[in-house]
Amino acid sequence: MLTDKFNRVHDYLRISLTDKCNLRCSYCNPVDMPKGYFASMPRMTAEEIDRIVSVFVKEGVKKIRLTGGEPLVRKDAREIIERLSEYPVELAISTNGFLVHEYLDTFKLAGIKSVNVSLDSLNREVFFSITKRDEFNRIRDNIHLLLKNNFHVKINMVVMKNINDSELIDFVRWTRDFPLHVRFIEFMPFTGNQWSGEKVFSYYEMLQLISSNFDFMKLPDEKHDTAKKYFVPDHKGTFSFISTMSEPFCVGCNRMRLTADGKMKNCLFSTNEADILSALRNGRDIVPLIKHCISEKKESLGGQFSSIYEIVDASKINNRSMINIGG
Ligand code: SAM
Repeated sequence: MLTDKFNRVHDYLRISLTDKCNLRCSYCNPVDMPKGYFASMPRMTAEEIDRIVSVFVKEGVKKIRLTGGEPLVRKDAREIIERLSEYPVELAISTNGFLVHEYLDTFKLAGIKSVNVSLDSLNREVFFSITKRDEFNRIRDNIHLLLKNNFHVKINMVVMKNINDSELIDFVRWTRDFPLHVRFIEFMPFTGNQWSGEKVFSYYEMLQLISSNFDFMKLPDEKHDTAKKYFVPDHKGTFSFISTMSEPFCVGCNRMRLTADGKMKNCLFSTNEADILSALRNGRDIVPLIKHCISEKKESLGGQFSSIYEIVDASKINNRSMINIGG
């Protein structure tokens, strides 16, 4: 078991398959990304991912989420999904939905039951202004295709003040007729994403706004939940809040991350990384590296800032961009 100093057992691994993406969301891509940046990144091969996962599973990992960048743009994504489906873990994926129609059978064969799709707007123009791609209709259609094929679908919406905060009610309304689970995510600071506390639309503000339009009820929280869940009676779906900035949920954290270039992060905001891929390539045992990385995990938010997000100075945060870490 991978246990840290605060007695948190880590059994959930998020693997970034690539730092490439077919969308260009401003909050995820660094604005000052140097040319050729992506091309220079060494990447774990499918076989290396498989070998690394076999070690993590022996150390107690029970859930694996594939992410990125956009995991499905990787040419061998299918092979990776097939390989990982052989492990006794719950396999899940986070995607922007762009290529989902090409992967339905792969997901089914791999036993993937739940798919997280990012969608920050229900308005085609706003979607375009955030992602720089005119693909709203395709992604909405793919969400409905997932529902039609009985997948459990979670929608991730990053809420940003004066950009898409006026759409919360539309998203909650969407859960009336469809069994969708919308998750409103507070905007987080990463290298180059022009974050400031003023752009955060907090959990509290979201609750206030939604309560002026709907009567809703709270669902019970589970130990490792990142989202605070609610539902409107009569609605088929639910909505929830990921309040990383205003009410972090690090106490129950069971997550570890592997970047596409094979570095392990014990927290989304950790400053230190363990070079698992180089160790593997040099024929070294990676277990001590993994254990050391977990033992160094900070109590909350990578030790980089507190939950008084209004006073966070994003320029002082030492991290990669989100697309480069793997969300
Ligand atoms: N391409 C996949 C997708 O769209 O879900 C996986 C990677 S994406 C980085 C994972 C999640 O991180 C998405 O839901 C995205 O909206 C979220 N994300 C990225 N940058 C963020 C930020 N600055 N604050 C909050 N969430 C962010």
